[in-house]
Amino acid sequence: MHATSERAAIGIDIGGTAIKGGAVTSTGHVLAQRETPTDNHAGIESIIAQIALMVSSLQDEDAVKSREIVGLGVGVPGLVDYRDGRVINCANLPGWENVQIAKLLDDRTGLGVSMENDANNAALAEARIGAGRGSDSMALLTLGTGVGSGLIICGSLWHGAGATAGEIGHTIVQPGGRRCTCGQQGCLEVYASASATARRVVEAILTGAKSILSERVNSGHPLNSADVVEAAKAGDAVGRQAWDESCKYLAMAAINLQHTLDPKCIVLGGGMSAAGDFLLANVNRQCAEMMSSRLGTLPDIRLAKLGNDAGFIGAALNALDA
Ligand SMILES: [Zn+2]
Repeated sequence: MHATSERAAIGIDIGGTAIKGGAVTSTGHVLAQRETPTDNHAGIESIIAQIALMVSSLQDEDAVKSREIVGLGVGVPGLVDYRDGRVINCANLPGWENVQIAKLLDDRTGLGVSMENDANNAALAEARIGAGRGSDSMALLTLGTGVGSGLIICGSLWHGAGATAGEIGHTIVQPGGRRCTCGQQGCLEVYASASATARRVVEAILTGAKSILSERVNSGHPLNSADVVEAAKAGDAVGRQAWDESCKYLAMAAINLQHTLDPKCIVLGGGMSAAGDFLLANVNRQCAEMMSSRLGTLPDIRLAKLGNDAGFIGAALNALDA
């Protein structure tokens, strides 16, 4: 039971393909939720209108009407300055550069708006009510097209001196390595994301390696990390090697996080985390092989619990913190 006096906020997660939103209480209870495809060809104004519509539709729900809605939290898949609610840039949303999204949404909804990077919101949600529940320090890595991440320190999101902290996906793990979309070479996300894992298999097959995935690749079908997992589980050497390599880079990232922050736990989320124990066991094994026990205990690595809802739940929790 939730007392009607329990505060709530609305959280919105803007993705490249869908906008998800919900009204969420301070204990993480979702009162109502919505999802709609992102209209990302029609410019910022149309997305702002989509969000305003979603917010008013959520406010019309009986379960929401009885609550005090204290604010609106919004997450975007890009670099955000939370201090002035400005989106600095956003690879999947053309035109979202140096725009005061918080101000635009505040004008439309009348709610105080808190802007965040989407992975930061997901980290907050996992730390408060998900896999990291009860942890006052945590790192989240979301393994999808890229590697998103967020850091929780002393129970709150860590933003750093210039609001750009927690970009673990762009820590360099291979000097002079593959070029990343950010412009650097050798970023973690070009070695350990779901896309990087699948790409490694495609490249091996196109340069002549034999695999149970050869026919699919040679006929032009795209692969994802789930295909690689299936091949690796079936004993396919190409699939196994690609999977081991991604897990090696994730183990490297986990060890570096452990030595830097000694967080209570490190949570793995995103599409690739659907591999479950097959992912966890491999990363843990490689951590144990690489890390010196003289420098402390192995990282406590866990699987994310909130799935695709983490973004909007965290956005709402962030608004409740504001
Ligand atoms: Zn990068």
